[in-house]
Amino acid sequence: MMLVYSLLEALVKLLFPTHPGCQLCGGVMGDSEAICPSCRGWLADWAKRPHCRVCGRPLGSGHRHRPSSLCPACHRQPPPFDLARAVGPYEGVLRQAIHLFKFKGRKSLAPLLACLMVELIQQQLPLKQCEAILPVPLSRQRQWERGYNQAELLAEEVARGLKLPLLRETLIKYKETPPQTGLPREERKQNLKDAFLLKAPAAAIFRRNLLLLDDVFTTGSTVSAIAETLKAAGAGKIFVITLANAGK
Ligand SMILES: [Zn+2]
Ligand SMILES: [Zn+2]
Repeated sequence: MMLVYSLLEALVKLLFPTHPGCQLCGGVMGDSEAICPSCRGWLADWAKRPHCRVCGRPLGSGHRHRPSSLCPACHRQPPPFDLARAVGPYEGVLRQAIHLFKFKGRKSLAPLLACLMVELIQQQLPLKQCEAILPVPLSRQRQWERGYNQAELLAEEVARGLKLPLLRETLIKYKETPPQTGLPREERKQNLKDAFLLKAPAAAIFRRNLLLLDDVFTTGSTVSAIAETLKAAGAGKIFVITLANAGK
């Protein structure tokens, strides 16, 4: 009886193979895709919303979409980076995936998350000008606590996917900064002042267009501080790519 049951089970599996679910929401889907049509549609809807043409922050539903639109922050003062884009909003399944990846040690999510970043880079023409990839560094203390730098894991995969050099340890974060969210702009800037130090010879970045990679774009103050450091050392354009944009 046992044998008949096992055979039957094997036959059912053969006739109706079960695919692993969507890696973002766990939903049912076909074999060839990394994420399900519902997650794909959700990200596509977000991409269609009006965004700031420089930092990629969503501009609110009342805003008419014009390619020249700027958010109030970029309008007040242009950021030191040239362009920032994110795969999706810092909400729902994406926020959950980032949380698992960053705080719960789920490093196996790196290939999927990096694949979504590669797709975005390939769709966004200016990002194709990138000549090398640079992950946003963690302070030594934070990296020791977490055991890994989530941005570096993603950058490794993205560099491989785009066949671009990865600038590892080019930049170090040598002082720990308090969480920047909720602080006034000037205070954030002051906290991050001189937090990043260029370790590699300046030739590694001189006149090169660089792609700076991080997990979440919140206020943009971290990537701005890094972009300032890199530009002061003679870097070319600085593009920023993140998984999520936490702007409202
Ligand atoms: Zn899904
Ligand atoms: Zn902006």
